[in-house]
Amino acid sequence: MFDIKKEILNYESELIALRRDFHENPELGYHEFRTSKIVSDYLKNLGMEVKNVAKTGVVGLLRGTGGPGKTLLMRADMDALPVEEKTGLPYSSKTPNVMHACGHDGHTAIQLIVAKILANHRDEFKGAIKFIFQPNEEEAGALDMINEGILQSPKVDGACALHLWSPVKTGRIGLSSGPVLGTTEEFELKILGKAGHTSTPHTAKDALLGAAKVVDAVQSLGTREFDPLWPIAIMFGKIHGGSARNVITDCVELGGTIRFLFPDENVNKPKVLEAFEKSIRGTCESLGLGYELKYIPSNPSLINDPSMVSLIRQCAEETYGVKDNIDEFKSLAGEDFAEISQRVPSVMTFIGIYNEAAKSCYPHHHSNFDIDEDMMKYGAELHIRAALKFLNN
Ligand SMILES: [Zn+2]
Ligand SMILES: [Zn+2]
Repeated sequence: MFDIKKEILNYESELIALRRDFHENPELGYHEFRTSKIVSDYLKNLGMEVKNVAKTGVVGLLRGTGGPGKTLLMRADMDALPVEEKTGLPYSSKTPNVMHACGHDGHTAIQLIVAKILANHRDEFKGAIKFIFQPNEEEAGALDMINEGILQSPKVDGACALHLWSPVKTGRIGLSSGPVLGTTEEFELKILGKAGHTSTPHTAKDALLGAAKVVDAVQSLGTREFDPLWPIAIMFGKIHGGSARNVITDCVELGGTIRFLFPDENVNKPKVLEAFEKSIRGTCESLGLGYELKYIPSNPSLINDPSMVSLIRQCAEETYGVKDNIDEFKSLAGEDFAEISQRVPSVMTFIGIYNEAAKSCYPHHHSNFDIDEDMMKYGAELHIRAALKFLNN
């Protein structure tokens, strides 16, 4: 077996340069044209079979020469966010209002180095590795790649992904089995009434009062409809209605997200959506109002498979050189790797990057967000070790 640590150190400056180049040139979901071209050329240079999928997605297949065996999928996401960067970094975004504010620049760079090192040593493993470079993670692009067949030919036996994660301290890992990231449903809601003058509210149907009551009423679902031990967060992120101080508006538009981490998602998700609508319907009916509710399905919950989690655990100590740096981790955040985790045994590892000295202590999607670049090499090593263990055992 080759010296993994030594080889990663040889490539660390390339790893950082790749990340900074992606950081400086961020691209929004399904517009990752430049990134996708760099990735695709890089994988071709390594002698891989490379395909484009889902507009800007790239799949590189690396076959081991150690014999036939399983296929492991490794996923990195490439998209940036519509955020104006304020970090002041020398390699800050060159594109106004577009920024890598979630660490996907780091994920792409890490996975290219993982691919390069494993391509250098294809004689040391059996089976194959499918490197997926995914577009549009922030708006649930995974399903488009799955629909285009990324889990077939060769059929995928297991999948892993990592996320550089600022809620976890640098040097540590967030990792748990079972459902670890929440189910997310986005919604648009219109409350419909009848316009009038604010001096004669009894002649109108006040959509604004209805909106206020709905925002409040749905908050009780988490305790009155569902077990209070099950986390659910119903949040409204926008509300628009009315045009003048003395006019009763006939329409208020709201939008938000429902996030929950319940056991038995398939049984409970319809119950959540039904209870949410029942609460809206009851509130509106009591005020003589109508409503229109539309869901924009986002992500199912992300399920970490216990055997895949144990694979990462086995690799973590060798990678970090310390014991016990793994924290139990769950969150209501959504991640579209969830779609893959619903179909094949999967694991997502949260690589801690919170480090005040490196100024990587801002939340994801913040205009000051940055990663602790020192942690990227650990991410790469963890995935190289995981791949070799998964394919050779
Ligand atoms: Zn994000
Ligand atoms: Zn992300």
